[in-house]
Amino acid sequence: MDDARTPPDLPSWATWWQRPFPDANTLLLHGRRPALVDSGFVGHAAETADWADARARARSGGRPVELVVNTHWHSDHVGGNALLQARGAAVAAGAPEAAALARRDPGCCSAEYLDQPVPAYSVDLALDDGQSLRLGDADWQIVRTPGHTPGHLALWQPEERLLVVGDALSDYDVGWVNLALDGPEAAGTALASLKRIADLDPRVVLPSHGPVPADPAAALAAAQRRAQRLVDDPDGAVWYGARRILAFALMIRGGLPSAEAEPYLLARAWLTDAARLLRRTPEVLADELVTGMVRSGALALRDGRLYAAAEHAPVPPETLRVPYPRDWT
Ligand SMILES: [Zn+2]
Repeated sequence: MDDARTPPDLPSWATWWQRPFPDANTLLLHGRRPALVDSGFVGHAAETADWADARARARSGGRPVELVVNTHWHSDHVGGNALLQARGAAVAAGAPEAAALARRDPGCCSAEYLDQPVPAYSVDLALDDGQSLRLGDADWQIVRTPGHTPGHLALWQPEERLLVVGDALSDYDVGWVNLALDGPEAAGTALASLKRIADLDPRVVLPSHGPVPADPAAALAAAQRRAQRLVDDPDGAVWYGARRILAFALMIRGGLPSAEAEPYLLARAWLTDAARLLRRTPEVLADELVTGMVRSGALALRDGRLYAAAEHAPVPPETLRVPYPRDWT
């Protein structure tokens, strides 16, 4: 909780919380309509909601969070939605996601595909490109930024030139793309989205993972170079996604016994799809993925257990027991 901080170049009505994996960073906007941008992972939903409500009340004349806005529906961005919604907040998300959630599409949140738990929520407000949205006391514009997911959006505050970019980029990388699920053009779509938000010339870029970039233009230029590489090297893009998905799976489970890694991977749709795109059997890919990540230091093997090496906060195992969207009521 004490790691909440406001970078010096953010206005006083915004509180930024940079969080380790598996939670996405969170932005709280105070004022007459307290709003939270992204709500973290389910394993820390109570912590997220308590933090946001307490800060919103303290800074917004006693009002709790009234609106949660999701940059996209991955589990590390929407895990607190259900709890905040139960407390009375509305949820806003990109129109394609809102439509799929309204249908209770089994593909919602890619939760089952990625094997990442998401508690059931609904979208009260579907957001379209160019739409204006009052968050706190300021008006923000919705900028559709498909690529990392088809429904991904960025939020732009033109007076302060603040840009919330979700997983479109971070200070150190570009968001992974899912060529199996979203098609071979997904990397090009991500690159086009990056060009579009770079043209806004933001003063501050707020990414969902890692620190606020010291130089927004440089971060956006670097992300475009990385996205171009994903376009030029589709196999590399598939590998990149697979590594990110496996690291996340290990983070939320506190690692896996190394003997269980292969059966776990072979049961995953994303692994089977990646193997097909990489012209390998799932068995070969599972082995290459783990071996390569251990060799690079992305995974650590200790006492017969595989762990993700990147910094991450522990998750109570019982919080992972959430039905897939196909079983949401
Ligand atoms: Zn994501």
